[in-house]
Amino acid sequence: MKYDRVFNFSAGPAMMPEPVLEEIASEVLNYRGTGMSVMEMSHRSKAFQSIYDEAVADLKKLMNVPDNYKIIFVQGGGTTQFAMVPLNLMKNGKACYVETGAWSKKAIAEAKKYGEVKIVASSADKNFSYVPDCSDLDIPEDADYVYICENETIHGTTFNKLPNTKGKILVSDQSSMFLSRPCNVEDYGLIWAGVQKNVGPAGMAVVIIREDLLTDDVPAFCPTYLNYKIHADKDSMYNTPNTWAIYCCGKVFKYLLSLGGLEEVEKMNQAKAKVLYDFLDSSKLFKGSVVKEDRSLMNVPFVTGSDEEDAAVVAATKAAGMDNLKGHRSVGGLRASIYNSMPIEGVQALVDFLKDYEANK
Ligand SMILES: *Cc1c(COP(=O)(O)O)cnc(C)c1O
Repeated sequence: MKYDRVFNFSAGPAMMPEPVLEEIASEVLNYRGTGMSVMEMSHRSKAFQSIYDEAVADLKKLMNVPDNYKIIFVQGGGTTQFAMVPLNLMKNGKACYVETGAWSKKAIAEAKKYGEVKIVASSADKNFSYVPDCSDLDIPEDADYVYICENETIHGTTFNKLPNTKGKILVSDQSSMFLSRPCNVEDYGLIWAGVQKNVGPAGMAVVIIREDLLTDDVPAFCPTYLNYKIHADKDSMYNTPNTWAIYCCGKVFKYLLSLGGLEEVEKMNQAKAKVLYDFLDSSKLFKGSVVKEDRSLMNVPFVTGSDEEDAAVVAATKAAGMDNLKGHRSVGGLRASIYNSMPIEGVQALVDFLKDYEANK
């Protein structure tokens, strides 16, 4: 392979598109005649302002973000959003959470610090291997919002149908599926995503929030940095933003637009995931961990049924140039994260390898 790169199946930070990395490399010492790198550039400079404006405009185009939504870039990765959401949106001190795995559990634990959390549906009974029915949830009249983790990175499940929130605001953690398929932003009050899964470098989250949710009545103890309205009013430049991540994400937004937008991206992701799921469905050694209807296009956990065998397969794949296939430490087994930037050749190489492994056992 060019550059000796491996097929990197990491859950995040994860692969980025090679043409984007090449472009970044070509600009790293002197960004378009400015005589400096984006890393060295003032966030108040003209050059950076246009990087920022283009990133926002391209994301808006990519997701068809309506005019009454604001796009903001915040530091602190995904985890900071677990606190920001309740701090800003719990006006009545009560919220509903759907529990579908490790990341929703973290969101729930954090929200409990600020108010009452009602778990309105859970798939804990079957080790988070499915998405619970959310068509008729018992949502209290005074609940402030309904929260989901739309794609559970660790367990490999995804919502193919959004919950019926009975008029309440829907908040979604899209970290590991952001920009993997078209998304109707109007269905949500707030979407957030840590960018290191499907877009760019770690340490930042994109937040898309409906403007009427940007209010002045956040609790007085809310840290300034954790107030969405502060970021929105200052166009993500209340303080020095993560300029490097914004620059890299902007390149990826442009790249996805050049591929034909999210409809095309979804087709590619479906074709890729099919190669792996078809194999898992036909294999006698490897089994997918998730029920068919709720399988993720992005994160594919699977097991052999033996911890020793799982470890042997992980070691063998690594030796063959396929890295980071070990399942999350909390669930074990194997996991292939096949985000937007994983080429279908990578998935095919993995399947060919696993087929071979099984045949030679
Ligand atoms: C990775 C991840 C997070 C946490 O992101 P950090 O940037 O590591 O804080 C939250 N939610 C989901 C679904 C994730 O995949």
